Amino acid sequence: MSLDQQHALITGANRGIGAAIARHLARAGADCSLLVRDPASAGSLAAELRALGRRVAVVAADVTDTAALDRAIAEAVAALGPVDVLVNNAGFAETRPFLKSDDALYERLLAVHLMAPVHAARAVLPSMVARGRGRIVNIASVAGVAGGAYIAAYAAAKHAMVGLTRALAAEFRGQGVLVNAVCPGYTDTDLVRDSVARIVAKTGLPTDQAMATILRDAGQSRLVTVDEVAEATLAFARPDATASGEAAVLLGR
Ligand code: NDP
Repeated sequence: MSLDQQHALITGANRGIGAAIARHLARAGADCSLLVRDPASAGSLAAELRALGRRVAVVAADVTDTAALDRAIAEAVAALGPVDVLVNNAGFAETRPFLKSDDALYERLLAVHLMAPVHAARAVLPSMVARGRGRIVNIASVAGVAGGAYIAAYAAAKHAMVGLTRALAAEFRGQGVLVNAVCPGYTDTDLVRDSVARIVAKTGLPTDQAMATILRDAGQSRLVTVDEVAEATLAFARPDATASGEAAVLLGR
């Protein structure tokens, strides 16, 4: 079943995993709202999706500015109608030894990975419930279901996102709204390339060795691809999907 006539809103859609998700949902038929910090950064993707025959809205917000996030979602609804599929993807990673991390680090990570999805879900759920259908997919992480050294704040925030996913799934399952999380391991995006660059700067290791080290420590033989994350997201978003409350782990094995 396709996503024809459905409105998918994807946060952080201008690059990386978010852009791949927008492409997959649009190819499956969805009209897309690309929620981004800088509208100019989504111009070429918007043109690409329009060339597929989809309606596209580019709306701007830093998702941690909840008033701006609410406004952007309202603009998306005004342009393309009620949201059928919400993908909470925008995010970043920051690593720090636990004893060197302050409260501000936790607040930054919880703002983007927990409170932004809370606000976005609050904005779209009433119309999903009223229409008896809806899909919310949260892009969490393996760090949402497992721990690791130096990632206490990121792991705590991603665990919170998975907890939110499971609780909303339980609360809204009977009303036609399915809520799931995709939990990728290291995925081939700027986020990982930036992390590897930081390791290279700190240790002097060659880039390929630094990459091999983080993959080995994570039990991955390769990077997950953005298309794999997008396919898992599409599977949860489809009208014939039935799963809810899942945290689908993708390890690139
Ligand atoms: P990228 O760094 O490639 O892209 C991050 C995206 O999120 C960008 O579009 C960025 O916008 C946006 N973003 C970040 N902060 C905000 C904010 N405050 N408001 C609005 N947009 C924001 O990362 P990925 O594509 O890899 O990551 C996407 C999601 O996947 C994140 O939630 C990440 O935690 C998760 N993830 C990534 C993994 C990986 O290994 N890559 C593994 C597991 C999960 P801008 O372009 O303006 O910076």
